[in-house]
Amino acid sequence: MTTGTQVHRVFNFSAGPAVMPESVLEQMQRDLFALPGVGMSVLEVSHRSKAFQAIIDQAVADARELAGIPENYHVLFLQGGASTQFSMVPMNLHTTGMPADYIVTGTWGKKAVKEAKRVGEVNVAATLEAENFKRLPRPEELKLTRGAAYVHFTSNETIQGVEWPGEPEGVEGTLVCDTSSDMFSRPIDVTKYGLIYAGAQKNLGPAGVTLVILRDDLLLRSPEGLATMFNYNTHAKEKSLYNTPPCFAIYAVGLVFQWLKAHGGLAAMEATNQRKAGKLYAEIDRTGFFRGHAAKECRSLMNVTFRLPSEELEEKFVKEAKAAGFDGLKGHRSVGGLRASIYNAFPEAGVDALLEFMREFERTNG
Ligand SMILES: *Cc1c(COP(=O)(O)O)cnc(C)c1O
Repeated sequence: MTTGTQVHRVFNFSAGPAVMPESVLEQMQRDLFALPGVGMSVLEVSHRSKAFQAIIDQAVADARELAGIPENYHVLFLQGGASTQFSMVPMNLHTTGMPADYIVTGTWGKKAVKEAKRVGEVNVAATLEAENFKRLPRPEELKLTRGAAYVHFTSNETIQGVEWPGEPEGVEGTLVCDTSSDMFSRPIDVTKYGLIYAGAQKNLGPAGVTLVILRDDLLLRSPEGLATMFNYNTHAKEKSLYNTPPCFAIYAVGLVFQWLKAHGGLAAMEATNQRKAGKLYAEIDRTGFFRGHAAKECRSLMNVTFRLPSEELEEKFVKEAKAAGFDGLKGHRSVGGLRASIYNAFPEAGVDALLEFMREFERTNG
């Protein structure tokens, strides 16, 4: 049997689906033929079985332990990606008769607004689009609605590489956050939020499952006539097992949670992430050959976006980097340039190797 480590792995800087911990991939490979004590693969086992119940219960318990999620919050594993949450959030929460506030700091926040507008009145409390989404709004730029149904923001804009260092100031009502690309990259005070959602395929595991953390009292807001699958009450009541859940993705995310616990939890992750991103930004700032996209005070620890002196050089960089074993560095077409996604599972050795590559590239092309 070949194990993952015997096969050559490149440094995967993809924004998502993205790199996963090697030990998790190896365990999945071992378990794929037959789960120990079960005699069946997780791909084959019934979602109503004791074996799967143990897997999902453990994943929920580990998420609670990692982020200190209180008992009055539900931890749900849903389908349809974070994009479905763009609709489910307003369908369930935009029922108070008041507008919903959206703080837009990048492409994903804009998409969330588009869907919310189909459901109810939206107040864009701030948008930095005119500045090409390079920075966060200053507190005095936030035009929040008193008594808003909820306030939505995106903790990390994956495409622009703009990340909130904490929650926006001055929010009084229900805070809702799309944390798809930085969930569990650092400690999070769940009690400040009404609802948190994250597609798993950036920082939590493979594609196919979305983590939703939802405060219990918000369930009262869902309208009676809402389609069953779009109603959070359905999934809260049935503990994510109303219909067949994405069993394999939940199992894989559970293994990532165990990996996080074994590596010191979210505080330790944050320290490592700061060190990894810090090295990369220091290199970007070193001479002026590279230029960061995001303003310094809101630079993402997960998605490092930067430019080179010309598009020709950017193209050359991506091509030569790929040949040297650095995959996925091309920036999103809407921003251009380069993007190095360095999620929790991205090895620090890969950052160090990229730094060396960048220095050499600058030396020969600068
Ligand atoms: C990738 C991403 C999404 C979309 O996720 P899907 O699971 O593909 O629907 C939404 N928000 C953010 C911040 C993302 O990074």
